[in-house]
Amino acid sequence: MSTRKVAIDGPSGAGKSTIARRVASDVGFRYVDTGAIYRAVGLYTLTRPLELHKMDIEIGYDGAGRQITRLNGEDVTDAIRRHEVSKAASDVSALPQVREFLLQRQRDAARRHDVIMDGRDIGTVVLPDADLKIFLTASPRERARRRWEEMTARGETMDYRSVLRDMENRDESDARRASAPLRPAPDAVIVDTTGNEWERSVAIIREIVTERLGL
Ligand code: C5P
Repeated sequence: MSTRKVAIDGPSGAGKSTIARRVASDVGFRYVDTGAIYRAVGLYTLTRPLELHKMDIEIGYDGAGRQITRLNGEDVTDAIRRHEVSKAASDVSALPQVREFLLQRQRDAARRHDVIMDGRDIGTVVLPDADLKIFLTASPRERARRRWEEMTARGETMDYRSVLRDMENRDESDARRASAPLRPAPDAVIVDTTGNEWERSVAIIREIVTERLGL
């Protein structure tokens, strides 16, 4: 039996991962955060030259269903969330050979389990045959505020304006790159979460998923 696939794409800070993780757990699907593998490649390049054949990236899950990312056997789940890794991930993600290297891994993750997969090109490139495609977005100010709150909660100190500026730069390069740019698939449902409490966004996405997949 083929697995069921939901693609959620959109810019950073739109709430993709929080919402996708929660809805996946509610409907019993596996959540796959594809940004984590780009982040693992980005983390690698902070200290070493980019040599894909030397990189072994694995995605697993802990007992609580949290996605664990390993780079050459080392658990980098927390390290990849650091601010400087975001920029490095965005830089490497523009390279076609990196996208090609990660493509099969992402497709494999959706072959054995029902998944909600989040990223930038899931509906357009990775899973063009997804049962449902959602493009989640929110205003840049709101997305930057959410990202700033996350960083502050983790103890990273950075002013809001720098977070906003970095996010706008990153969004722009994600949208302008020649290889798999960030854009909604023609058949994606577009959901703007600006001004929503996150519980409301979760409820909206859960409803779209359960309705469209007949769950
Ligand atoms: O989603 P997250 O912010 O963790 O992703 C980090 C970076 O990885 C993004 O800015 C984007 O450049 C890249 N990415 C991508 N394609 C994906 C997921 C992430 O290019 N499917």
